[in-house]
Amino acid sequence: MSSRRQGVLLVVSGPSGVGKGTLIAGLLARRPEVRVSVSCTTRPPRPGEVEGREYFFVSLEEFSRRREDGALLEWAEVYPGLLYGTPRQAVEETLARGEDLILEIDDQGAQSVRAALGERAVLVCVAPPSFAALHERLAGRRTESPESLRERLATAHGEIANMGRYDYVIINREVEPAVEALEAVLLAERHSLRFAGWQALQSRLLAEAADEEGSAHG
Ligand code: 5GP
Repeated sequence: MSSRRQGVLLVVSGPSGVGKGTLIAGLLARRPEVRVSVSCTTRPPRPGEVEGREYFFVSLEEFSRRREDGALLEWAEVYPGLLYGTPRQAVEETLARGEDLILEIDDQGAQSVRAALGERAVLVCVAPPSFAALHERLAGRRTESPESLRERLATAHGEIANMGRYDYVIINREVEPAVEALEAVLLAERHSLRFAGWQALQSRLLAEAADEEGSAHG
């Protein structure tokens, strides 16, 4: 087995408007070595969004082709008619290089990643301090139509119902403590036996111990 440590795959999920983007930006400011996966989506770009930075914006045909080719690690219809998916190859390559990677995806996607990768993915749920606070934040964004706001709140309800399937819950009451909590999760997981390449270390230490014992008795 290679002694190189696989990167930590941190799946950050939680209702739209809860502040996942802000927390991830805060983590990247502290830990610029962390990578963020760029998803594909059939949603049209918002003003200011750049192809390949926020998303790869693709047609429904292109999305379906990638899905059928197995090129997506997970995908979901996050809102009616809008598909989002995580490119598989980029995830595998990044983790194999030993780089930590964040997926900012919805709850359906998080559950698919858990089903596909089991304990090799760390699921973090970002929760609002109250449902009213979430509603206010979403309404204050002014990027959503009344219809889309209603859809997002209904989706949020279902996502909160699934909280028990996550490894960690971070309440985004204030940004700084929440960013610190996310960083703490990442640092702890870097040392978790599921990521740390511990077998290689163990083999080396046991071999060294045997050598020492051999020379002590020899
Ligand atoms: P938005 O349209 O506001 O950029 O994103 C809407 C939602 O889609 C967010 O909650 C985000 O987490 C989710 N999302 C973004 N990319 C993916 C993806 O690749 N897969 C899944 N399942 N959800 C995604």
